[in-house]
Amino acid sequence: NQHCRLSIQVHPYAGNRRMLLTRDVTSLEQAEAMRRDFVANVSHEIRTPLTVLAGFVETLQNLPLDADERARYLHLMSQQSHRMETLVNDLLTLSRLEGSSAPPPNRWIRVRALLAQCEDEARGLSSRLSQQGHRLSFTMEADTEIAGVSTELQSAMSNLVSNALRYTPPGGEVTVLWRLLPDGRGEFSVRDTGPGIAAEHIPRLTERFYRIDRSRSRETGGTGLGLAIVKHIAQRHGAELRIESKVGEGSRFTLVFPVTRLRRTPAVSAVA
Ligand code: ADP
Repeated sequence: NQHCRLSIQVHPYAGNRRMLLTRDVTSLEQAEAMRRDFVANVSHEIRTPLTVLAGFVETLQNLPLDADERARYLHLMSQQSHRMETLVNDLLTLSRLEGSSAPPPNRWIRVRALLAQCEDEARGLSSRLSQQGHRLSFTMEADTEIAGVSTELQSAMSNLVSNALRYTPPGGEVTVLWRLLPDGRGEFSVRDTGPGIAAEHIPRLTERFYRIDRSRSRETGGTGLGLAIVKHIAQRHGAELRIESKVGEGSRFTLVFPVTRLRRTPAVSAVA
């Protein structure tokens, strides 16, 4: 293996003889490099809004601004603080998820409630992103419950819907569907008519801070941690995260949940 890294140590051994100890340190070095990258990324992500904030404070202190200009600067400062807060919250969520290997409690969560909250958030976000908004559709084919932690499930689903909206230009279409597969598993999917993702990026999207278009991500309030969080939540629930996409056509992100149970209500209903 040409990428293998060996550590070689020479130790005295019986008289004049020497003992050669070799150890494969490839994975240790890789882990250390990943840790260094992560710390560098976090520092960079926090420094950027901090520098902007410091600049605004200086301007407010030193320039004679009228009330409108002051209000504008304060608004920009509040955006930057909000961005730092989101980043720190995402980092805490990720570290909590990575630090706990315990399986999530198996409580039954009603999908209808999860979808309704996704829809509320989506309509709010879509109108904040553009006046024109998006064509949004939410459909629930079966009134189901899934086993898991409600806050985590909500966060994973909302993350996928928010990404679809943030990367799809105004006027585009975002379609959210919950359905049961023939084998009884439950499928949550979010399809968009956005830019699509080239095949070489797809396997890396769930890495922390991996972003295809850094500025688009920042402009729309992204931290680069969303899909890493979704991946961890999916793993804790035994769910599978699938990403399908075609450049120029759009993307489809799917979570497939293994444990579901049907509620005794009509089979097809739109989430109100
Ligand atoms: P971010 O906060 O940057 O959105 P994520 O981890 O949620 O971070 O996503 C990682 C990257 O994957 C994004 O920066 C973006 O480049 C790409 N991405 C995610 N969802 C979509 C989507 N629906 N359409 C196109 N690109 C997407």
